[in-house]
Amino acid sequence: RLYGPDRRNSAGMDISQNAIRKDLAAAVKSFRDSPAISAGPIVNGKVDSGGGDMVRVPFDTEIVLGSVKSADEKHIDQALKSAAGYQVQWDRLGGAERAKHLRAMGDILEENMTRLIALMAREGGKTLGDGVAEVREAVDFCRYYAKQAEADFTGPTRLPGPTGETNQISLHGRGVFCCISPWNFPLAIFTGQIAAALASGNTVVAKPAEQTPLIAFEAVKLFHKAGLPVETLHLLPGTGEQVGSVLIKDLRVSGVCFTGGTSTARIIAKSLADRDGPIIPLIAETGGLNGLFVDTTALREQVIDDIIVSAFGSAGQRCSALRVAFLPHDTADMLVEGLIGAMNELKIGDPADPDTDVGPVIDQESREMLQEYLAKMETEAKVLHQIPAGRIGETGYGFGPALVELKSLDQITEEKFGPILHIVRYDPDDIDKVGAALKAKGYGLTLGIHSRLDSFQIEVRDAVPVGNTYVNRSMTGAVVGVQPFGGEGLSGTGPKAGGPHYLHRFATERTLTVNI
Ligand code: GLU
Repeated sequence: RLYGPDRRNSAGMDISQNAIRKDLAAAVKSFRDSPAISAGPIVNGKVDSGGGDMVRVPFDTEIVLGSVKSADEKHIDQALKSAAGYQVQWDRLGGAERAKHLRAMGDILEENMTRLIALMAREGGKTLGDGVAEVREAVDFCRYYAKQAEADFTGPTRLPGPTGETNQISLHGRGVFCCISPWNFPLAIFTGQIAAALASGNTVVAKPAEQTPLIAFEAVKLFHKAGLPVETLHLLPGTGEQVGSVLIKDLRVSGVCFTGGTSTARIIAKSLADRDGPIIPLIAETGGLNGLFVDTTALREQVIDDIIVSAFGSAGQRCSALRVAFLPHDTADMLVEGLIGAMNELKIGDPADPDTDVGPVIDQESREMLQEYLAKMETEAKVLHQIPAGRIGETGYGFGPALVELKSLDQITEEKFGPILHIVRYDPDDIDKVGAALKAKGYGLTLGIHSRLDSFQIEVRDAVPVGNTYVNRSMTGAVVGVQPFGGEGLSGTGPKAGGPHYLHRFATERTLTVNI
């Protein structure tokens, strides 16, 4: 039902074509030439900008991309008042009508793809390839949830009952959803959360990551331009402390959708537990300590390619990214040699350059955290290799991908968000024990397996239960409707974004029984 021929994933654009590269380069340049983006809260469709904090480019901090004004208490109050006041009307509109708005949101993103990719390269430090994938994902979320809104949120479903009685069940929005999104997918996750909440009949107050407010600002303006009623979606930029925590405490908020760190998810959960009003859901998608298990039947070149992409693609700044590769004693030396060779081939540089493989990390705090951690690993473990960050090391937040060999898995307890790959040598015959040790860390997001033996694949899957398992391929880049994404344990609450059960968590169910 959800996979019918009338819903295709977005085709994106082919950045190997010269004409497209030219357009992208011009769009990147335009952010330097034309007046910078002046962003701020958008409440009831009205922009309040000017006089905000400067937004700089992580690749080159000399470049100022724009400014952002944070939301204050008045913006927050007005946004909540409007969103709460309009929600019943939006819910009553029904899934089929809301789907039209969602499709219009998807279409307008696709029409503005070039500019959005260029802006993500600048503000988010995302490579052009990652930018294409991200716009596609954002578009796919809109269209996927549109289809689902039509299927599940249009009219009641009849239920059986005794003669003389009719029974039915229907899904409704809960109220106002607070969507708190991360900087690593500043468009796709930002849009996906909003699209899901809207599709299910909620109105939305959105708090984008502090590091990437401009892309969120541009997206909301596009959504309103596409015809989305301004009361349904308000943008409230600012910090977690000043904006996020105020929003989640407000009793006009009926649900929270959050993607980000595990520790922040815990803070949100505690804050929600302390509210005196209704008990409301938290949908949290957090980090991972993601492992990949290789056995001796695996194909060397494929293992190396997939490890490089999974660990260092997007500068390791994906929660799905590979953090620990388990290499068999028998082939570990050969694999490490291949990995180091492949690392040396990676091009680190300006994410807006089509040849760049690895761009900057997001900010100074992130770079310092990675540097300090790697220094600690120099003494406690063994840093096998790190490639230089090159020019970005000086102009921006460059951090060269690094390979660290651990003596044992005990040396790592939590996710470090960036391009650091750990390896652990192991005996594939001990997979039960090693898998149990990884599982005991408590995360459960992604898992990679490289083996040509079905029996080994099954053993690993049984030992390390996670949300998304990938066999004999890279383990990042989940596609909407194809690999619904999300984990368990410390990795989040589920349900999976881009999957058939996601919208239901945003909704409330009502039955109606009539005795005729
Ligand atoms: N869905 C993304 C992927 O599969 C990761 C999302 C995230 O990092 O939050 O790579």
